[in-house]
Amino acid sequence: MTVGGGCRCGAVRYALALDALPPTYACHCTDCQTWSGSAFSQQAVVAEEAIAASGPITIFELTPPSGRVSRQRMCGVCHTRIFNTNSARPGLAVVRAGALDRSNELMVTAHIWVRSKQPWLALPEGTPAWPEAPPPEEMAQALGFSRP
Ligand SMILES: [Zn+2]
Ligand SMILES: [Zn+2]
Repeated sequence: MTVGGGCRCGAVRYALALDALPPTYACHCTDCQTWSGSAFSQQAVVAEEAIAASGPITIFELTPPSGRVSRQRMCGVCHTRIFNTNSARPGLAVVRAGALDRSNELMVTAHIWVRSKQPWLALPEGTPAWPEAPPPEEMAQALGFSRP
C-alpha cells in the first residue's frame, strides 16, 4: 500500500511505499519549534527510496556548525516542508507527519529534546522521552524498527 500526503496548496503530492502508517515522534528542540512555528515537530523516519513525490519541489540546504548537511524538501509554491534528509543518516528521510493525508490516525511513540519542551504541554505517561537526542538504538526501538 502507499501512504499519501501533500503540501498546503496541493501543488506537491507524494506517496510513501509502506505497509502501514509509520510510527511518529515529536521533537521538542528549539530549532523544530522555530521551524514549525509551533510547540514541537511531529515526524516519521522512512527509507528515502520509499518516497515518490511529484510537483515543484524546492530544496533548502542547511549546514550547521556540526557539518551535517540537512536538505529540506519543500513545496516551491507554498513552502510547506515535506521531508528532509541528512548527510549523517544516508538513505533515510524524515517526513513531516502533519502533511500526511491520514495524520489523524498517527501515533506519537517517542518524545525527544523534552529539555526544551513547552511547560504547558503534559506528555502521556509511558511514552518514551529523552531530554535530548536519544541513542540511535533506543530511538529505533521506540519507533518499532531494528537497525541492520
Ligand atoms: Zn504547496
Ligand atoms: Zn527538533
